[in-house]
Amino acid sequence: MATNRTFTMIKPDAVENGHIGGILDKINAAGFRIVAMKMTRLSTQKAGEFYAVHSARPFYGELVEFMSSGHIVAAILEKTNAVEDFRKLIGATNPANAEEGTIRKQYAESIGRNAVHGSDSDENAQIEGDFFFSGLEKF
Ligand code: GDP
Repeated sequence: MATNRTFTMIKPDAVENGHIGGILDKINAAGFRIVAMKMTRLSTQKAGEFYAVHSARPFYGELVEFMSSGHIVAAILEKTNAVEDFRKLIGATNPANAEEGTIRKQYAESIGRNAVHGSDSDENAQIEGDFFFSGLEKF
């Protein structure tokens, strides 16, 4: 059964470029409730662990380096049909293919520096949320 939560990160490019507020505004406007949120920075080891599923992909090294290059904002979001609706809100991985009105269309720089992460399944939303937040940090 689909759960009503997803996990997101505002990535180092968007934090550096001053887009935290703009992105949170779009998330709120789309009807998501913020269940948990923190600004933090991933070590290369932690970034590697988070993206372990991509370890065989050619861009893995670049991805780990980028995701540990600056601060990120991690959050758990709640809404009916959260995972699917949030993937629609962020748009395609490559901003060149992202639809008008999506977060990546507005804020992403490239396929690698693409402003936001969004979980791709309910199972991963749970795993990824637990990676960053304890039960005491979820509201
Ligand atoms: P997502 O689910 O839309 O985030 O996309 P994927 O799960 O396919 O890839 C995870 C992340 O890896 C993406 O959000 C990008 O930051 C990065 N990524 C994917 N493809 C490429 C690529 O071709 N080059 C680089 N540098 N990064 C990529």
